[in-house]
Amino acid sequence: MGTTPPSTLRPALLVADRISKTYGNVRILDDVSLDLREGEFVALLGPSGSGKSTLLRILAGLIPPSAGEVRLAGQPLRGVNPRAAMVFQNFALYPWLTVQENVELGLLGSGLGPIERRRRALAMIDLVGLDGFEDAYPKELSGGMRQRVGFARALAVSPEILLLDEPFSALDVLTADNLRNELRQLWTEQRVPLRSVLMVTHNIAEAVSLADRLLVFGANPGRIRVELPGLPPSVRARADGFQHALVDTIYRVMTSPHEEVAALLPTARIIQPAGPGPGYQMLPHVSIGDLTGLLERLQRLGSREDLSDLAADLQLEADELLPLVDAAVILGLAVVEQGDLILTALGRQFAEATVDGKKAIFRRQSLAHVTLIGEIVRRLDRAPGHRCGAEALQRELEQFFSPEEAARQLDTAVDWGRFSELFAFDDDTGEFFLEFPEGTSGGETSQQRAIG
Ligand code: ADP
Ligand code: MG
Repeated sequence: MGTTPPSTLRPALLVADRISKTYGNVRILDDVSLDLREGEFVALLGPSGSGKSTLLRILAGLIPPSAGEVRLAGQPLRGVNPRAAMVFQNFALYPWLTVQENVELGLLGSGLGPIERRRRALAMIDLVGLDGFEDAYPKELSGGMRQRVGFARALAVSPEILLLDEPFSALDVLTADNLRNELRQLWTEQRVPLRSVLMVTHNIAEAVSLADRLLVFGANPGRIRVELPGLPPSVRARADGFQHALVDTIYRVMTSPHEEVAALLPTARIIQPAGPGPGYQMLPHVSIGDLTGLLERLQRLGSREDLSDLAADLQLEADELLPLVDAAVILGLAVVEQGDLILTALGRQFAEATVDGKKAIFRRQSLAHVTLIGEIVRRLDRAPGHRCGAEALQRELEQFFSPEEAARQLDTAVDWGRFSELFAFDDDTGEFFLEFPEGTSGGETSQQRAIG
């Protein structure tokens, strides 16, 4: 591709023009615009729940946007996108169909006759290295082989645009690496007539190793924060300093407040300013055990560590590490500065404390800094018998989050509340309650206990 013009000058194949998507009261995507251009591999990174899959589905024409427009070769898209095919994280194969039948399925609406459908399906099965497995059923295949079927089915329709939704994230590391390299070959050697690829991934190194252009999504509502140029193709696939530096920068972007991103990235396009947000703090869904593990490890590493090195050290991917970082920051146990995670004095104290000491610190900090936990405790202090049902809170949270996310917020609050012994939750009745030891409850509120 050495002589082709830079991608910014090439025609746009697929355009998302100010796309928004709402479910009920909740805005999932907010004013998202992007172009996919001829010859481009674009990666989309972002926190889980930020609407990346929703955006891909809209681009594939599987669901309509609530506002804005998708244009295909300049024309508004109506219904399913005829020039795009999608590969899903969970493979989405039919268990009762053979490999060949699964691949042919994508061709059913194509107007091709059965002989041509069969010929094309076999060619794609061959292309993805599943020769000899035509008559196997998905359950007889490994995860990697199943995803090969997913790719064969998508490629069978000769799409111009390939939409990949975390295609390797359900696979083990070696299998993922293997398939990633095959995808790179397929693309760079132009072994299929693809013109553009859009890949959602939470694996920052994967994005950097493949993409001409990277988009970083923010959550609540989902929007593009930053657009970055990828590495030059000649260094892209090498795990060297170039890669590491860009991975590092993206970690920084993902953990920095939006106002600071411009200073970090003089060459990047800062797409949208931070929005008003959901009006409610979003709890990261992390277990206290994992958070404790992170803080103790950081303490042993000298209280300060580069985020991408920390991810490598803990063998965590960005989508696992960043929620833990979020939780530590919300609780005042760590700060992020210049791409490093640094323990605060309190964080160091937490890392060294006994279990009871940890609970006491966690209790104080979550009461002071976690809106939802503060709210539950306030309600329990006032409620008759210090019990209250979760439904009212669930409904209130649904003003800000989707019903599934609202339920997850409550689950996380229950977890954290239990650990800190601020309140308990009765799974049978769906009620929060205060758990005073017999006889010590006389008038003392949980806020007072937290201070004690
Ligand atoms: P990501 O792929 O970035 O993890 P998704 O696009 O899957 O995010 O989801 C974004 C948000 O939209 C989530 O909070 C999810 O619960 C919500 N959501 C997705 N699909 C629906 C739906 N059909 N109805 C209601 N909420 C939905
Ligand atoms: Mg998704």
